[in-house]
Amino acid sequence: MTGFVFNEKPIDIAAGDGVFLYDSDGTEYLDFGAAYACTPVGHCHPRVVKAVTDQTRDLLFVQASYPQTARTTAYEMLADVGTGDLDNVWLCNSGTEANEAAIKFARSATGREKIVATRNAFHGRTLGALAATWKPKYREPFEPLAGGVEFVDYGDAAAMAGAIDDDTAAVIVEPIQGEGGINPGGREFFQTIRVHTAQHGAAMIADEIQTGLGRTGSMWASERYEVVPDILTTAKGLASGLPMGATLCRDWIADGAGNHGSTFSGGPVVSAAAAATLRTIVDDDLPTHAADLGGYFLEELRQTLGEAVRAIRGEGLMIGVEVKRGANRVLRDLALDHGILALPAGRTVVRMLPPLVIEQQHVDRAVTALNEVLN
Ligand SMILES: *Cc1c(COP(=O)(O)O)cnc(C)c1O
Repeated sequence: MTGFVFNEKPIDIAAGDGVFLYDSDGTEYLDFGAAYACTPVGHCHPRVVKAVTDQTRDLLFVQASYPQTARTTAYEMLADVGTGDLDNVWLCNSGTEANEAAIKFARSATGREKIVATRNAFHGRTLGALAATWKPKYREPFEPLAGGVEFVDYGDAAAMAGAIDDDTAAVIVEPIQGEGGINPGGREFFQTIRVHTAQHGAAMIADEIQTGLGRTGSMWASERYEVVPDILTTAKGLASGLPMGATLCRDWIADGAGNHGSTFSGGPVVSAAAAATLRTIVDDDLPTHAADLGGYFLEELRQTLGEAVRAIRGEGLMIGVEVKRGANRVLRDLALDHGILALPAGRTVVRMLPPLVIEQQHVDRAVTALNEVLN
């Protein structure tokens, strides 16, 4: 279980600043993966660093049974930026925990068992979230997982409509599949889920752990599809890389949520980081920037790469380039020859999730580098 990206030439990361990472020799890398989408406002954003530093001086931790300013502010900010009437906020420590809570809340609130998920979905690696995750490689060594999950083809609105019935507790779905290869399911698919879950009294869970926080061009991808889910989960960049996840839900879910808890729920330091991150996203209007620059990025990629690749997909600054040879070789060449760090999504997709603060010159550099690597 080595964790290195490139075993033959491990890059040791010593520092980060904005869109750049630096190794211990001072070599600069342009971070087009945002450390797994964990740095929407860039590495070590001064506002986040200050909020965290100030908080560490006052109080590292107190549990959630006491009101505490940083935690209260994080609750308020999340309720504020949450779409529609998702005013109830549960804080935890990762994406998988946010989804685990979502599934538990939906089962408790509906008194039902069945969960509908999608093929190629990724929702996390605890036994409940993993049960809604598709890839056999992630599942099989750990079975039996939590039961009651049914899978339908992602993007197939008719199959989805057919799978939702009066026994369904919830549908859990990514607005755009991330890990699964940057697959946009489309507005109609997403809206179909909303209509049919509402008809049958089931909860719609939007897993926005990768799509959220401005990445696809609005604060939440659900907003782009004009859908308000019953439960929305977020994590990854929420606290700029400090561990935090959140489950946002409507009153009917919160009222029936049952007994759930976590010692670290909304610790003061991560809450301070989250509030500063959210404020920066809102104040700097990073969702609009992601929409504009993402549109430019997609256009440039399509014009430049053309026949050299199988497909280019994405929305905003969540972009996948499906290549003709293995993605890992492309990623290695990008990193070692061009100083650009991106991510894989499966074997053939080069995934780009840059910090939302990137500028056009950085996008141009990435497009040129990809062109050189692929041609
Ligand atoms: C990363 C991710 C998760 C899991 O989050 P962790 O913090 O790794 O547990 C769940 N869903 C989606 C869509 C993700 O991208």
